[in-house]
Amino acid sequence: MAIASSPPTSSYFPFFSPEAAQDTNLLHQLGFIPGLKELLMVRQVHALEHATIWLLSDRTTANPALQHGQGEVSLGGMSTEQGFYVYGAVTSMKLRQAVHSALLRLVAGDWDLAVHPRCGTNLSVGMVIATGLALGVPWVLPRNPLEQLLGMGLAATAAMHLAPELGSLAQRYLTTAIPFNLAIGNISALGDRQGRSVHFVQVRWVEQPLSFAAQQQNLKTKTS
Ligand SMILES: [Zn+2]
Repeated sequence: MAIASSPPTSSYFPFFSPEAAQDTNLLHQLGFIPGLKELLMVRQVHALEHATIWLLSDRTTANPALQHGQGEVSLGGMSTEQGFYVYGAVTSMKLRQAVHSALLRLVAGDWDLAVHPRCGTNLSVGMVIATGLALGVPWVLPRNPLEQLLGMGLAATAAMHLAPELGSLAQRYLTTAIPFNLAIGNISALGDRQGRSVHFVQVRWVEQPLSFAAQQQNLKTKTS
């Protein structure tokens, strides 16, 4: 759940840069783990949801006609591995524009958009720990699958012990990921529920070609 407020101000990815092919690589190496793909997908969807809410809140604050209630526009979101729901006053067309530009901006390096200060607990503790499992791999980076599994276990254990203090870090590094593997599908208006309009933004997984990833890596080392 993300509720619109002011735009992001600080840098949310100070420690490492997301790699375009990180999730593709994970899937190639660890695709045998049940549910891994869904988990990687929901993290990417969650980032797209946050970025979309950011962009929509910019729009709606710029257009008071869309506001209702006592001044504050409240837009909410909820992510699944198939897409995300947007709750609140927004037209399908504005939503479509926002989703597309959110995806472009995230992939182009606007990573702060992936984190929303009012993200709630729509992802269960289990999901957070499971994403910790997945994220442990790039931290540890051994090539051997057994070592990778060990590294994942360590990351999960660390996540469990540190979770209370690291709520916002969990969002930054565990429950969202830059949507390098998402393509936007249908956006459907689901009508009103309890006085708020609801939309669903469908996404699908796109395999990031490994050769493309290697090219990007080369480009990065050349330019940095
Ligand atoms: Zn959220």
